[in-house]
Amino acid sequence: MLREACGLLGIKDEGRAVVLAGWVHRLRDLGGITFVDLRDQSGLVQLVFRNIPEAHDLSLEDVIRVKGVVRRREAPNPKLPTGEIEVLVEELEILSKSKPLPFPVDTDEPRANEETRLRFRFLDLRRERMQRNLRLRHKICLSIRNYLSERGFIEVETPYLTRSTPEGARDFLVPSRLEPGKFYALPQSPQLFKQTLVISGIERYFQIVRCFRDEDLRADRQPEFTQLDLEMAFLEEPDELFTLIEGLVAHVFREAIGVELEVPFPRIPYAEAMLRYGTDKPDLRFGMEIVDLSEIFRGCDLRLFAEAVERGEVIRVLPVPGAARKSRSELKRLEDRAKELGLGGLIWAKYEHDAISSPIAKFVGEGLLRRAAEQAHAEEGDLLLLAAGPAETVAEALGTLRGELAQELGLIPEGSWALAWIVDFPLFKLDEEGKIASEHHPFTSPHPDDLPYLESDPLRVRARSYDLVINGVEIASGSIRIHRRDLQERIFKLLGLTEEEAWEKFGFLLRALEYGAPPHGGIAFGLDRLVMMLVGESSIREVIAFPKTATGACPLTGAPAEVTEEQLRELRLKIEPEVKTRS
Ligand code: ASP
Repeated sequence: MLREACGLLGIKDEGRAVVLAGWVHRLRDLGGITFVDLRDQSGLVQLVFRNIPEAHDLSLEDVIRVKGVVRRREAPNPKLPTGEIEVLVEELEILSKSKPLPFPVDTDEPRANEETRLRFRFLDLRRERMQRNLRLRHKICLSIRNYLSERGFIEVETPYLTRSTPEGARDFLVPSRLEPGKFYALPQSPQLFKQTLVISGIERYFQIVRCFRDEDLRADRQPEFTQLDLEMAFLEEPDELFTLIEGLVAHVFREAIGVELEVPFPRIPYAEAMLRYGTDKPDLRFGMEIVDLSEIFRGCDLRLFAEAVERGEVIRVLPVPGAARKSRSELKRLEDRAKELGLGGLIWAKYEHDAISSPIAKFVGEGLLRRAAEQAHAEEGDLLLLAAGPAETVAEALGTLRGELAQELGLIPEGSWALAWIVDFPLFKLDEEGKIASEHHPFTSPHPDDLPYLESDPLRVRARSYDLVINGVEIASGSIRIHRRDLQERIFKLLGLTEEEAWEKFGFLLRALEYGAPPHGGIAFGLDRLVMMLVGESSIREVIAFPKTATGACPLTGAPAEVTEEQLRELRLKIEPEVKTRS
């Protein structure tokens, strides 16, 4: 007889003989009778053992095979899809025993620390929640592949053993045995390969691909992570890509979690996002828009404000709905937080009883504060938080406070989704040493209107790049690329690369650009993060089968691990003893 799926049995099978196999999920030995919830990939079903002596030897997570008859349950369990029936066992075969478990696997909340969970990942993944996460991940990937494939995209694999790709992180290096002293780099992204592919006539490419970045693993990053990477030829304006991706994302949300998204998503220029939300990853599930009040306070009697405006700094306000009743100590806490975020201070104003009170009212007058409240669209009962300082500092600090306060005050609607494109990023930024660096990567096309300033005022040049933001999280990022060698060389030069260096690093791209490169552009999604959001987890480690810990270790396999002297000799590598520096 063929094995059947536990989770698919039901009242329709009453009286039928079945063979089942799976894991002992729950066990109740009542002496004369033993109940087991048997689990396989499809779900659970209750088994009943009477007069089968071996049933007393069973332990949780043993693997068994049984033969029995389906019967109606006296006390149905409405919580279980198979709860109307049970299987009266006639034959039991223990296929494999399990040792006592280090943690239970029949719970949604993990009852072990991360290290233990990862060391026993084979058990951790048996938990229903992890099984659901992996299944949904598969479903998401499948719906992506189907959607793109139907629109003429093909999935092409690109190498893992390659040269450094410039996404701004440190490379993982792999020593070459055949050419000692030389190294491959694991790709930070397939950027150069996907551009090469469209130049090769693969007009629509995509790949669900692993990328590697050797960064210090702050905040839920993984040294290897998965991107949905995509590129298309003859893309000159981002709109065609936006429409395609909006369709794709709407399709994935529908297929994976049954949510209908509204398209098109709003498009917000970077400068506007920084002004209104204090970040280039705005969470649009709630309002609380920051407003610039520099002009209102220009020349006012509060020296702090007047002088700031005079210096070219800004005065901005963050309205906080319904928070006028915050106590002095809470306001003090907000001020302390603002200082932590780099502001000199934070000035409050309360809109209550049709009046505005604030410690600065006596200097600037209530009339001015009223105008401020009006511009911020504040209403009776709202709190206004005013800050002065350099535009970037104020934007960032108020943006952070906006997110924290919305969370604290419960202003983020549960289960809502807000997606937006952020467009027109600057092409360049200054790095820590004050040198020009790419904001996205060096292959991003400058905005055609800003080309005249490329050399004269590079920081003013906008890029034809875009990010997709979901609920305040950057989920995808891409750009229209440079498809002409002369422009690409100008950009390399601005980035401080000599001709030889540019050729040495990216020669193959420069050469390809000389042989008929179509205009092109693309995007890449952080797939782990997208899946995490869709399944409702708060860490990407919950949607990756075998993730690394925060120190980049894999407790399951023990990687990274030492290698033998012989292996090192073959690679002509030597490990230097650690040099201890005295502190
Ligand atoms: N390669 C870029 C990244 O990984 C994405 C892109 O420009 O398509 O961020």
